[in-house]
Amino acid sequence: MKSNLRIVLVNTTHPGNIGAAARAMKNMCLERLYLVEPQGFPCAEATARASGADDVLANAVVCQNLEEALEGCHFVVGTSARSRRISWPVETPRQSAARLLEESKQGEVALVFGREHSGLTNDELEKCHYLVHIPSNPVYSSLNLAAAVQVLSYELMMIEPDDNAHPEEEPRELVPAEEMESFFLHLEQTLVDLEFLNSNQPRKLMRRLRRFFNRSRPDKTEMNILRGVLSAAQGRKLYKAKR
Ligand code: SAH
Repeated sequence: MKSNLRIVLVNTTHPGNIGAAARAMKNMCLERLYLVEPQGFPCAEATARASGADDVLANAVVCQNLEEALEGCHFVVGTSARSRRISWPVETPRQSAARLLEESKQGEVALVFGREHSGLTNDELEKCHYLVHIPSNPVYSSLNLAAAVQVLSYELMMIEPDDNAHPEEEPRELVPAEEMESFFLHLEQTLVDLEFLNSNQPRKLMRRLRRFFNRSRPDKTEMNILRGVLSAAQGRKLYKAKR
């Protein structure tokens, strides 16, 4: 369901790229554009480069940060111009497009693009379930932002609608990005309380745990159980400390 798919551009510097991305999207029947802290938008150059896709620009949702742009999304794919930037599952555009459309049958999904100069930060990449890398010249791998939007939009367009491919056994209510974020905060705090988290190396452990929980795709009931386990562990620690 392409109507559940949002394209997110983070902190784009050149308004022309926003316009060209809107055009690339509309050419491939995509409409929902989210802009995180765009620089100089709205702008005549963006409209000129959108060249008739002004409706995509006019309906673009401007957000203050990536969390806001991902609100309500249970599945997120990030783009990376470098193939093995961090150890995170990386797929090809074709694999990612198929996965995004499959996931979009269950609710909102997002495909996230980074800044022209520096791409996405590690913190932003960590909010993604998968990364997608467009195969390219290893010594000149970074495409223009709108060109990258074009390639991925094309792959999304080429996926055949096949609603019966994997009939859903039992619909599961998956956890949206904002709830996963508060779970990760709770997990981190609990690990600190339990003195399990080494404060000199917090990022590595949390990154591995994020990867693990993102891979397992918990539903709301499972998330409630996990939160209960964390609260119980925190309570027990408190109780022990008091004695
Ligand atoms: N120097 C930056 C390049 C950013 S290019 C870096 O190394 O990350 C701007 C954006 O275009 C990227 O954040 C990504 O969203 C997209 N992009 C460019 N080339 C890409 C590629 N080969 N695969 C996937 N996305 C790419």
